[in-house]
Amino acid sequence: MKSLWSQEEAQQCQDELDLRVYSSRLLGRDKTLVLHGGGNTSVKIREKNILGEEQDILYVKGSGWDLEFIERPGFAPVRMAHLLALARLRELTDSQMVNELKTHMTVASAPTPSVEAILHAILPYKYVDHTHADAVVTITNTPNGLNSIRDIYGDKVVVLPYCMPGFDLARLCAEEFPKQVKDETIGMVLMNHGIFSFGDNAQESYERMIKLVDMAENYIKQQKAWTLLHTNQEIDPHKSRYKDIAQLRKDLSLKSGRPMLVHFNAGLKNLDFIHREDIGDISQEGPATPDHVIRTKRLPMLGLDLDSYIEDYQDYFNSHASSSKQAVTMLDPTPRVILDHELGVGTVGATAKDAAIVADIYDHTIDIILRATALGEYRALPAQDIFDVEYWELEQAKLKKSGGGPVFAGQVALVTGAASGIGLACVKALRARGAAVIGLDIDSKVEGVLQGPDYLGLTCDVSIQQHIVRALDKGVRRFGGVDMLVLNAGIFPRSRPISELSSEAWQEVMQINLNANLMIMRETYPLLKLAPQGGRVVMMASKNVPAPGPGAAAYSVSKAGITQLARVAALEWGADNIRINTLHPDAVFDTAIWTEEVLKSRAESYGMTVAEYKRKNILKTEVSSHDVAELAAEMCGPLFAKTTGAQLPVDGGNDRVI
Ligand code: ZN
Repeated sequence: MKSLWSQEEAQQCQDELDLRVYSSRLLGRDKTLVLHGGGNTSVKIREKNILGEEQDILYVKGSGWDLEFIERPGFAPVRMAHLLALARLRELTDSQMVNELKTHMTVASAPTPSVEAILHAILPYKYVDHTHADAVVTITNTPNGLNSIRDIYGDKVVVLPYCMPGFDLARLCAEEFPKQVKDETIGMVLMNHGIFSFGDNAQESYERMIKLVDMAENYIKQQKAWTLLHTNQEIDPHKSRYKDIAQLRKDLSLKSGRPMLVHFNAGLKNLDFIHREDIGDISQEGPATPDHVIRTKRLPMLGLDLDSYIEDYQDYFNSHASSSKQAVTMLDPTPRVILDHELGVGTVGATAKDAAIVADIYDHTIDIILRATALGEYRALPAQDIFDVEYWELEQAKLKKSGGGPVFAGQVALVTGAASGIGLACVKALRARGAAVIGLDIDSKVEGVLQGPDYLGLTCDVSIQQHIVRALDKGVRRFGGVDMLVLNAGIFPRSRPISELSSEAWQEVMQINLNANLMIMRETYPLLKLAPQGGRVVMMASKNVPAPGPGAAAYSVSKAGITQLARVAALEWGADNIRINTLHPDAVFDTAIWTEEVLKSRAESYGMTVAEYKRKNILKTEVSSHDVAELAAEMCGPLFAKTTGAQLPVDGGNDRVI
């Protein structure tokens, strides 16, 4: 554990809140301290209100903010006097507490204060930092955890037994803290949950956190439980499993009532973990800190037997719901983490980002489980405690806030020719509607053209079957299936009259524009058939189909070929609930082939300016890649739910087509 504090950066801070932002971000940058919205921080500041009266304000992390990226507006200002008064109440329900916090802020537009606001308020220090440090939860999730914590820290920390976060924890702290606190106390350990540090200034509080966590890490090292041994499992990485994964994803989606993404990672660390002899015990204990249950559920699914996982989940729900404070309704009973001998660790989410967050959390959980096991035994909280957090009304509210979801949330699209032009525009249009997108292109630029957990760019020659199969395998391991296919890759050869058209030039165009599409359709068909909401295909043909031009025989025939292919597929695949529609774009000039030079010479040959040439259609309008892509995306959506086998021009109107 190293302090990341920089005097130079700290000096840039204008005031105490700036420093709070700065050191919160330092904590957030270290994934072994907090992950994805976990942890919280605060600072107590005395300031004047509009009447000129002085008051103490607690600036505490607002919910929905991530420490790594927090900014000043991410801290909710709550009046200290009221928080301290609340801490003296005997009882306060969760929703009452949230109401009190929100109605005693000094900025109406501030985010909802952290549910730990009262706890932060009663700790008598200016700066308070709270994390779920891996090393600390590793030690506290062992049978001897309490003794170990006392050995490591002595009076440096106050220790609280596990207690439900929120008002109950604040109450417990209000009672216990004054009894245990000593002169040398610099922090507080919450068993099976995390750790607090505090200080008179931002640096002191932050560096005490680093120091305390460093002590925990050193203890694990002294116990020879730090280094994780790897046995190097051998799994055939070329064995294609994409149909199994897509089937699992379909079942998962049906059982959870909405399309879900599944991301499999068969890295060595994951395989090693899954192949341990004790995996049946150590993976079935529970999360490292209760907060994680919202993302990961209490237990991972071991193997691929979804029905028995769901049955177990129902049992878990039934046996704990009756002890719950309020009436609860069962959440979707499907797993968020899957451990499979061959496929590795699978993580499930309604979006690619959610699945990636689960993957991050479980990656840390594996380290925690293995180190705790090396310390003696990994022992998580009893199921009832985890249940109480999973079904806590405030946590439910958090999820609802992130929810809603765009039209293609949880769905996967595959776009060919995705590195530029119409293909890239299609990727963007689908992503903007919530889809995770696999982009294929022969140009390796496709790999880096967009960033984010919801995009996978793969270099791929779509005319080679092996490339396609490999790309589908990678794509399905990343997202779980393919629901939408946009067949856009194609070449536009130089103009040539038939009398001069060589068989090689003809074949080349057919190979890419026609044959490759047949192959992709054939290989993707089993996946489209498993799309939870039905498969959709958009074929990018051309105005040249209804209105061919001289000199473009090969191109026009290839596009006519895929148009006919799409019509036949619409007939054959309708029974599998797969819809196929075709677009006929024309004069889309914002693509790589249309340089200013080419445009100018074309315009001149028509006796037009470039601007006139670009609008040479009935509506006198310019057609962009974006226009075509938006229509392609809509064709995959509910607007076209009852349409298949159709052909639609997107050309500004053409008298020969009309
Ligand atoms: Zn916490």
